Amino acid sequence: MVSENVWLVPAGVIGVYDYVIVGGGSAGCVLAARLSENPDARVLLLEAGPEASADEIAIPAAMSRLLQSKYDWNYTTVPQERAGDRTIYWPRGRVLGGSSSIDAMIYTRGSRFDYDSWRDDFGCTGWGYRDLLPYFRRAEANQRGVSRWHGADGPVSVRDLTVRSPHGKAFIEAAQRRGAPDNDDFNGPVQEGVGFYQVTQRDGRRCSAADAYLPPDVRAARKNLTVKTGMLVTSVLIEGGRAAGVTVRYRGAEESVRAENEVILAAGAIGSPQLLMLSGIGPADELRQHGIFVIADNPAVGANLTDHPMVPVIWATPGLRGPWERHGNAGVARWKLTHKGPLTSNIAEAGGFARSGPRLQAPDLQWYVLPTAFLNQGLTDPARRAMTVAVTLVNVASRGRVRLASKDARHRPLIDPAYLSDVSDLSALTTGVRMVRDYASAGPLSAITAGEIAPGDSVGTDQEVRDYIRANVSTLYHPTGTCAMGGDSALHAARQASVVDTMLRVRGVTGLRVVDASVFPTLPRGDTGAPTIAVAERAADIIVGRAPLAPDPVDAVTSELIVARLYSPCPWPPGVGEAGPGLAEVVEVGAGRGRF
Ligand SMILES: Cc1cc2nc3c(=O)[nH]c(=O)nc-3n(C[C@H](O)[C@H](O)[C@H](O)COP(=O)(O)OP(=O)(O)OC[C@H]3O[C@@H](n4cnc5c(N)ncnc54)[C@H](O)[C@@H]3O)c2cc1C
Repeated sequence: MVSENVWLVPAGVIGVYDYVIVGGGSAGCVLAARLSENPDARVLLLEAGPEASADEIAIPAAMSRLLQSKYDWNYTTVPQERAGDRTIYWPRGRVLGGSSSIDAMIYTRGSRFDYDSWRDDFGCTGWGYRDLLPYFRRAEANQRGVSRWHGADGPVSVRDLTVRSPHGKAFIEAAQRRGAPDNDDFNGPVQEGVGFYQVTQRDGRRCSAADAYLPPDVRAARKNLTVKTGMLVTSVLIEGGRAAGVTVRYRGAEESVRAENEVILAAGAIGSPQLLMLSGIGPADELRQHGIFVIADNPAVGANLTDHPMVPVIWATPGLRGPWERHGNAGVARWKLTHKGPLTSNIAEAGGFARSGPRLQAPDLQWYVLPTAFLNQGLTDPARRAMTVAVTLVNVASRGRVRLASKDARHRPLIDPAYLSDVSDLSALTTGVRMVRDYASAGPLSAITAGEIAPGDSVGTDQEVRDYIRANVSTLYHPTGTCAMGGDSALHAARQASVVDTMLRVRGVTGLRVVDASVFPTLPRGDTGAPTIAVAERAADIIVGRAPLAPDPVDAVTSELIVARLYSPCPWPPGVGEAGPGLAEVVEVGAGRGRF
């Protein structure tokens, strides 16, 4: 085996490796780091975008500067039939670190019920909550230290924010007055409640998956790891039913790279299904329409696209300075010198989870509180003092699809998230808007707000709120599910056709896996960065043939269930259901007294 970090350039083939990983995003960085721990394994990571060395990537509060920049694929959905026939801007990271280099750094994992549903409803043995919790911990370096729920020694630095805006504090207090419980750990025993988020930062800088897993010392030390940026992969080379490598577009020419063990697609929920289809794996009719030779007919490729839809509620806050007033030259100088100050804010500092009805087993709504007017998806600079609660549906029924627009890998695919195509999504979002309006009428929020900018006073009835949602719904940036994992049984196949098996191997060919957010059978109720990393951590063990980490003992999970049952904090709508004990009173059964 060759173990030197060289770029071989024989005619036509520009390198031979054991593993070729396509896409240097959240999952790709984990895989590159874990697979190259074995010095005998030659690992190549191919990323279409550039290195992530710019200050605007490192500065947490500069996130909006990354939208529609050279670090963004800058996708747009097809017109959304149930959302005013609008096309909607969809950012995705096109840079080392992928979307984790342009995201809002919020560290949440979703609900245990999500992963248990993967295992029980979709036959994904080995991917339940008990199976994944050890991988969440392995990935994590939480400043609060090690616990049943958290790791302290992993690559991903998770921190409490050091700046907290008064807008977020007012929201939390107001929501509590309306019955929402206080929660200082959305990734602990109970997900529901309001509080400040923890963020993926290290020393006041963004900690992307590239920072976490491929820091300069790792890249320098691993002679068996080659990271190549600016390389657009155009297809997987399939020879005799086996993935033998990939073709890449580099400096205007088409070249190929060979993989002796495996090709692993980690190109994200848009890039991975696009590449499978370009390589002849997907819905046969559609592939033929584009003149692509069909290798494996699978209509599930690109299907099951699921995203969290979001709608903003915005109030004027004339007495509070907005971030842009605090971020001027002095703020930049301070951040550059000390990595401290207001520029360490991820802007969406506070929020939480709630249920739109008392009988739901887990939260279906998430709040993101921004001390600014979140206009036009963050593309318009806010000109007035305001705050936003981004009301987000996290248990989504609508399903869409990614299709090819052409057989040219440089052409963006057609993205149809089918927002609001299931009417239950619209009704849950309508309740969500009503809930945050109710919070806004409570003392701490009403004291800082001076009128609702959006939806505005003219929007009152349920019908008017629904019209507002249809006219304004957009993405919360969490597309998943387009190369869904599923078990082998007929029952599970009947429920949802799958693209990869539970070892993440692509059905219909050998030597090819998909490892990224596209394999999620359903979308977790929370942000998707941490789940993607946990999935990639487990996938790395599977790929190298290491026994997976032992599942968490049943008693830990049981204790959480008992806590969840004891604790039914959903007094909204007012008068429906009784609030259970607050978190401060909850005892972790079977685990001694927890940190609450
Ligand atoms: C604006 C924004 C805000 C977000 N905020 C949060 C947040 O606060 N918290 C959170 O947990 N999650 C957040 N997310 C979501 C989170 O970042 C993603 O879910 C996660 O990064 C997905 O990881 P992935 O590996 O599946 O894909 P990505 O990280 O997107 O990686 C895919 C990589 O593949 C590369 N690629 C694609 N096609 C090709 C090709 N043909 N050839 C070569 N390379 C290719 C891409 O350039 C990219 O680097 C946010 C996302 C965005 C866009």
